[in-house]
Amino acid sequence: MLQTPIVADTADTPATWLARHAGEAPVLFHCPAALDARHARFRAGFAGEVTYAVKANPDPGVIARLVAGGMRGFDVASPAEMALVRGVCPEARLHYHNPVRSRAEIRAGIEAGVVSWSVDEMGELDKLAAEGVGRGAEIAVRIKLPVQGAAYDFGAKFGASPELALALLRRAAEQGYLVSMTFHVGTQCADPRAWTRYITACAELAREAGVTLARLNVGGGFPSGRDGIDPPLEPIFAAIVEACAAFDTPPPLVCEPGRGLIADAMAYAVPIKARRGDALYLADGIYGGLSECPSIGVSRVELLPGDGRAPAPTLPFALWGPTCDSLDRLPGETALPGCASEGDWLLFRSMGAYLVGVTTCFNGYGTYERAELARLWTDPSRPLG
Ligand SMILES: *Cc1c(COP(=O)(O)O)cnc(C)c1O
Repeated sequence: MLQTPIVADTADTPATWLARHAGEAPVLFHCPAALDARHARFRAGFAGEVTYAVKANPDPGVIARLVAGGMRGFDVASPAEMALVRGVCPEARLHYHNPVRSRAEIRAGIEAGVVSWSVDEMGELDKLAAEGVGRGAEIAVRIKLPVQGAAYDFGAKFGASPELALALLRRAAEQGYLVSMTFHVGTQCADPRAWTRYITACAELAREAGVTLARLNVGGGFPSGRDGIDPPLEPIFAAIVEACAAFDTPPPLVCEPGRGLIADAMAYAVPIKARRGDALYLADGIYGGLSECPSIGVSRVELLPGDGRAPAPTLPFALWGPTCDSLDRLPGETALPGCASEGDWLLFRSMGAYLVGVTTCFNGYGTYERAELARLWTDPSRPLG
């Protein structure tokens, strides 16, 4: 589904680009300068190594851009993601932080030169050892706590209880591995206290296990500007450093953002196919690029009227996708100018994460065009993100 992006005029925004555009397929706008700016902000603000969670957007162009900005560490979850990263950056350091792997996947990871493996279960640690993950590899014990603050608890699928984490830390240390810890606070988490709680727990567990951590990986979960506000990254970076005072010797830090790095560098424009009363029928929905909406809500969206109509007072609209499935509706109502009509476009912001690689072609939909822009927004009060 990945197409070569059309490179636009440097002065274009999504609105001016669409005004000259004849197509009817949704358009994913990518602003590489916004990705560079966000990457630089992470590197300047985060007190450790910044790596990228590939699943958030596996576009080889995105990976290449991050590599050009100095990134060398990548969180990969499958042999296909390893091959993808290696293809772009042969010297990349691969962190295989999907803690459930088949034996064949473990062997593929060893073959690909994975340097860090997360574990949240004793059988998984034994499996890694049995398949030949050598001493000197990093084993990152992943923990799970009941922590609030994220848009949804993506972190809930994996993670050991504190008791199990203690046993894993001790066993990994006995086996001669470099022992680390990791966690995921949940995605789109704007509350620094989520990191504080996890880091404090890691410090306590490491002390109780008698293990000096080689590194502490504070995961992903960093927020994007999907609500239309500049994401509060610096308070989170500060809270992370402060919380590390709980360690006798604070370990070197790693983070592995997905959404926080890439989401704000892309916006997604979707045409309105029809209006019936207060319902708008869109050219894409929950089986395509808007698949995250049912779980984390609709990101900030604006109407781009096809004919430059004056703004009208807003009304609540129901937004329906293009398939014949009645589930294909965005949650709740979305406030949009009451003049919205057929042929207009909706521009969803912060759509760089969990769109590329996630869309299906259910009912024959799911294709989109791509365009590269030098900027996404005209209004300087809404920075690149
Ligand atoms: C998905 C994932 C991430 C990235 O999460 P975001 O919320 O997109 O930042 C980081 N680490 C692991 C292990 C993941 O599975």
